[in-house]
Amino acid sequence: MSELLTTLKNYYGYDTFRPGQMELIEEILSGRDVVGVMPTGGGKSLCYQIPAIQLDGVTLVISPLISLMKDQVDTLVTMGVRADSLTSQMSLDEQNDTLRKAVRGELDLLYVSPERLENDYFLSHVKRMTIDLIAVDEAHCISQWGHDFRLSYQNIPKIREICQNNPPFAAFTATATPEVRVDMVKKLQLTDPYQYTASFDRPNLSFSVVYPKKKQQQLLSILKDKETSIIYCNTRKNVERVHTFLKKKGYPVGYYHAGLDPVERNQQQEDFLYDKTSIIVATNAFGMGIDKSNVRRVIHYNMPLDMESYYQEAGRAGRDGAPAEALLFYSSQDIITNNLLIEQGNHPHAKKNLNTMITYCKTGQCLRKTILKYFDEDVPWTNCENCSNCNGETETVDVTEECQKILSCIFRMNQSYGMGLIVDVLRGKEIARIQNLGFHKLSTYGIMSEYSEKEIKDIIALMVSENYLRVGGDQYPIIQFTSKTPELLHAKTRLSLIQKSEKEPIKPLKETSDYDTVLFEKLRTLRRTIAEDIGKPPFVVFTDKSLIDMAS
Ligand code: ADP
Ligand code: MG
Ligand code: ZN
Repeated sequence: MSELLTTLKNYYGYDTFRPGQMELIEEILSGRDVVGVMPTGGGKSLCYQIPAIQLDGVTLVISPLISLMKDQVDTLVTMGVRADSLTSQMSLDEQNDTLRKAVRGELDLLYVSPERLENDYFLSHVKRMTIDLIAVDEAHCISQWGHDFRLSYQNIPKIREICQNNPPFAAFTATATPEVRVDMVKKLQLTDPYQYTASFDRPNLSFSVVYPKKKQQQLLSILKDKETSIIYCNTRKNVERVHTFLKKKGYPVGYYHAGLDPVERNQQQEDFLYDKTSIIVATNAFGMGIDKSNVRRVIHYNMPLDMESYYQEAGRAGRDGAPAEALLFYSSQDIITNNLLIEQGNHPHAKKNLNTMITYCKTGQCLRKTILKYFDEDVPWTNCENCSNCNGETETVDVTEECQKILSCIFRMNQSYGMGLIVDVLRGKEIARIQNLGFHKLSTYGIMSEYSEKEIKDIIALMVSENYLRVGGDQYPIIQFTSKTPELLHAKTRLSLIQKSEKEPIKPLKETSDYDTVLFEKLRTLRRTIAEDIGKPPFVVFTDKSLIDMAS
């Protein structure tokens, strides 16, 4: 048996490596930089832990979350590996003790946060350590193209100069589009790295896009008491609303968002991890580093803003390999809300990212194939037979004429109103607001009275997603023309709507406050701008403690 297999067996108790693990380990041991891209649960940690065990010096592991570090250190220590971490939760004495051990070479792995690399006291100790490997976990955080950009990751490349013996870098991530991967290699300043990208396909996961009439009712028809489920919502308010609803219905349900105080949040997380509650309703603050293998379904109650986040979150289902479901609830309101959100933030790729999600929700093709294509992975089949498109039926309807009616109505309303009022005017509703504005006199008043609210909203959402309309406005979403609008207005192009067989009309959602999410995006933008302008800035945020969490 090779030495590596022996280590695998002795420490981890496994008999074989998964695809890519051995190659990555061998390249690291030969001193080469590596990039390992594997889905969540793919087994990335072992790829730097085994070299760390074999190498004489210390392996420095840069990891973004204290909870992640702790879990790994605890597991390693039980396995008999000399591992420790430096965290702000430790006393100065404890920190010094750990540093001393590392300098003396009494540690195999030292876990630190990226922020630690800004600390001169720490760096002065690094100079005295023999570091044989630097492992970067969640390495996509260094790229602004990704969905988790983290400013302090920019300190990572510099650490190599401080080390005595020019150690190799090993970067790992679960979420990398080709763009992020290229950017990651560049930003980390890797030299000719060996790259391994595992297949991102998760055959045991069935993917569905659902078009619920009422989202809450739809939940009831899907959820099962004893089966573990995660429900992701886009705002804290929605989390609380859905949580209250399910609780009233008697489900064993918990909730989680960055606005909860740490004790409560931790309790909610533990209850879920240890199966006291089988369902958790959460914002995207929940999940990173959560290793719960028996999650049977992940439901996205709202459309996420990008495919990377979506796939990572959905991928938390079925980590045990047994059949599991990933369901995305689609509503045309989500498209409007999300467009408004990205208008207000200014993430450079937000629009492109969102369009990918919209395409995903509207495609008639295999959902799995659509996802994998996004991650640049070609698959030999056309149908996976395990997604709502492969199992359902779709039909295409030309809606160009409907588009023209809607556009001419928006034009007559001076492009100054939101979707709700536009729909009401088109359907000829008799409400005071319309009378007061005089819109009941427009020639387009009531010209779509035979259409349902949902049908009209779907067509508007389609035009927004195809850039024939945009969502503007500072406070309220206003539907406006774009430079492309005339093409459609004069029928130089035609638009078709894909309709699913399981489709049901949607009741409009109540207005929701997206304050948290908007502020969050603004903070991110600010950090990014400062980073570009003055390089490595101190960043101090004065705000409600919960928001810091959300922005980090
Ligand atoms: P990632 O960081 O890629 O999300 P982890 O490193 O946490 O994944 O590994 C996920 C799980 O897979 C862990 O329980 C780990 O012990 C297990 N694992 C890793 N490699 C192997 C292997 N070769 N054989 C069996 N299980 C493995
Ligand atoms: Mg990991
Ligand atoms: Zn499919």
